[in-house]
Amino acid sequence: MRRKLAAGNWKMNGTRASLDEVRTLAAATSGARCEVLICPPATLLSRANEAAGTAPLRFGGQDCHADPSGARTGDISAEQLADAGARYVIVGHSERRTDHGETDAMVAAKALAARRAGLKAIICLGETLVEREAGQALAVIGRQLAGSVPDGAAGADTVIAYEPVWAIGTGLTPTPDQITEVHAALRAALLDRFGSGGWDFRLLYGGSVKPGNAAEIFALPEVDGALVGGASLKAADFLPIVAALSAAAAPVN
Ligand code: PEP
Repeated sequence: MRRKLAAGNWKMNGTRASLDEVRTLAAATSGARCEVLICPPATLLSRANEAAGTAPLRFGGQDCHADPSGARTGDISAEQLADAGARYVIVGHSERRTDHGETDAMVAAKALAARRAGLKAIICLGETLVEREAGQALAVIGRQLAGSVPDGAAGADTVIAYEPVWAIGTGLTPTPDQITEVHAALRAALLDRFGSGGWDFRLLYGGSVKPGNAAEIFALPEVDGALVGGASLKAADFLPIVAALSAAAAPVN
């Protein structure tokens, strides 16, 4: 059974005042049937961990360098994230691919670094609007999956997030059929490459997930949760999403 995952990506948002949101989330999600993760800015990782106390709320980084340490001004290693209390790290987010020119090979190296440091990697991929309109979505995603997921990856250390670039922060979402088509293609490619181990990778959807559309998305086959940007910043928005995922994870009598 794949444990469902509600992951929040705070991006470059949040200061110490945001720890109140962490405290609220920690208290309100301790009985959730899914795993709940917040990826705050690295400046808050340690304090967020402390604020959550013994609650099962998890924390992650938003990016890491492939190297464990060294002369890399401004970068942060997977080992440093782990030291600050991270359990996960997002790699290959489209904002990193676009703003920092990250290639699939760089993303795969970061995912390997995550594994080396004992972190789970959330590997992001997704097509642009131009690529979708050109009928290239599945080809692009297949190429990104092949290039960004390192050899030896397994469901225990790797999560895949399908994030169509045109849906991130725009309020646009793909149709249920489009999400289903991509997630089915991802599962098929994982099975092809990793054999039956391909079943163990969690597949998240990301891109304008909100309280109002979460339940519909979580009801889709092969959707094991969500990577949420804007709607993860406030507990009041993120909690209904966690509740919808928890409900989707509930055993059917
Ligand atoms: C993201 O940045 O990963 C994301 C999904 O953002 P949003 O939910 O704001 O579209």
